[in-house]
Amino acid sequence: MSDQAVDYHPMWAELGLDLPMHDALLEAVGGMYGATFMTQNNRPEGTGYLDFVMGEVHGLRIKELHDFRKAGGKVVGTYCLYVPEELIRAAGAWSIGICAGAEWAYDQVEQILPRNTCALIKSMMGFKLGKVCPYLEEADLLIGETTCDGKKKAYEELGKLQNLYVMELPQMKRAKDVAFWRSELVDLIAKLEELTGNTITAESLKASIREVNDKRRALQRVNAARAAVPTPISGLDSLLAVQVAFYDDVPRFTKMMNTLADELEKRVADGIGVAPKGAKRVLITGTPMALPNWKLHQIVETAGGVVVGEEMCTGSRYFEKLVDEGGATIEDMLDDLAAKYLDINCACFTPNDGRLDDVVRMARELNADGVIDYSLQFCGTYQIESTAVQKTVRDAGLPVLSIDTDYSAEDVGQLSTRVEAFLEML
Ligand code: SF4
Ligand code: SF4
Repeated sequence: MSDQAVDYHPMWAELGLDLPMHDALLEAVGGMYGATFMTQNNRPEGTGYLDFVMGEVHGLRIKELHDFRKAGGKVVGTYCLYVPEELIRAAGAWSIGICAGAEWAYDQVEQILPRNTCALIKSMMGFKLGKVCPYLEEADLLIGETTCDGKKKAYEELGKLQNLYVMELPQMKRAKDVAFWRSELVDLIAKLEELTGNTITAESLKASIREVNDKRRALQRVNAARAAVPTPISGLDSLLAVQVAFYDDVPRFTKMMNTLADELEKRVADGIGVAPKGAKRVLITGTPMALPNWKLHQIVETAGGVVVGEEMCTGSRYFEKLVDEGGATIEDMLDDLAAKYLDINCACFTPNDGRLDDVVRMARELNADGVIDYSLQFCGTYQIESTAVQKTVRDAGLPVLSIDTDYSAEDVGQLSTRVEAFLEML
């Protein structure tokens, strides 16, 4: 990350980044990546692609976006799973999931937002105020959504700094809520057509539904292999694959993940695993882990456990459900998109029993020995839902550990002690 052969500084300067601070960020993330990922044993060869992408995270990929925009293309940044990538691509734009997974410029952030705001929202503002995120600066439009209160209000501040459009997300899943969400998708089409000057057609939408489903299918294959004992890929590498899925080129990423899945399936057939024999298998559920948040996975896997699944937005919620591919008209496809997207089980919804069912089902499917329920501090929705998650998991006969944390390294020692005790108890 810090030793690119090509000097991208002129491009970063053109984007208005704070170059010294940006260099410091790249160095810190590069060091963290090396210490976290490159020290793992027996990684599948296919993870080399993830290393390459991460090595060029602010280099080659940004250059691709830069060139695309110079040729007249538009880039759209999103912050939440509910914003359909299919519509963005059908309008000829590229969709980028903005990261928000590291502490940055909190001194500036806390002049605008209360200190007791979740780390994800603070990071989202910090990357903008600190001028260190080239993805943000490449985005012609950001799309927010009315999920939790913190994000909703923070978008008002972010919108003062950048072109931002907010979709209204209902918080229940009744038929009238699905109909309302569908109407929001219609409005989004108008917004995207205005931005790009392109018209979304039945052909372009059908193609993008297929393309994004293919990406999800590739990730499903990678993740299905994790059910094997021993598991053929670490939790860290699996999490990274989903994090990268948010911003990489879609057809290329799909191809590389299918290659990785081929390798994993062969490993499973040959009985090759990454973790030591008898390593305790953990499912993690909770708030998303945006790049470069690898903290909990690293703690679990350094302690000798292995993470076999993530019931979260940077996990199964991202790839598990597909959009129906049978629609022939835009009207049909909007029905299918609205139904699929409102079927994501986020704690911003009430009731959210589907998530509880998913956690128990996944723990069984993936042969997990225990579940860690992970919340970011000050995230009221997930923290409150933690009570129900813990009870459901215990009732299903599985041990559960609840963790509240943030992006800092301050509590790593204390969390490691708790995780080690949990793994010993499994
Ligand atoms: S946890 Fe909820 S609000 Fe956050 S990204 Fe996922 S769906 Fe969106
Ligand atoms: S982690 Fe919780 S508080 Fe933070 S943005 Fe997501 S839902 Fe909102």
